[in-house]
Amino acid sequence: MSFCCGASMIGTKGTLKHIRTNIHNVPIMFCPVCHRVEIHYLVENEYEILAEYAHGDGADEVDFGEYVEQEGKELLENCVNHENEDPMDVVLSQIDMALDLLCFAGQIGDKAWQDELKKRLGTLNGRRNKLRQRRTSV
Ligand SMILES: [Zn+2]
Repeated sequence: MSFCCGASMIGTKGTLKHIRTNIHNVPIMFCPVCHRVEIHYLVENEYEILAEYAHGDGADEVDFGEYVEQEGKELLENCVNHENEDPMDVVLSQIDMALDLLCFAGQIGDKAWQDELKKRLGTLNGRRNKLRQRRTSV
């Protein structure tokens, strides 16, 4: 778990730019307060290698996930602990995160990421409504 500004950083995937190369699906840590982005510490070396390689190759776009084998799930689960949490709280905090990320994606002008986050928000909204219904019907 990483901390920044006193808040815990969020584990997610994003697009990073190395000189002229866009590198997609890089596991990153994102601070919801100041919007600082850090490469996930478990993939720092791989990221550097791929970034250098892609730049040397003159590639404009590379997908981190295609080059680097990841236990992606594990990476993300390290950052956010969902154990013993109320499912409603989990959904609400996921919505918060997605909104923060959406705002950040907008700032860096990453259209594809924005679309992906909007889709995710739609799913999360549906889940929240379902939970809410279940709750009021009890
Ligand atoms: Zn911060």
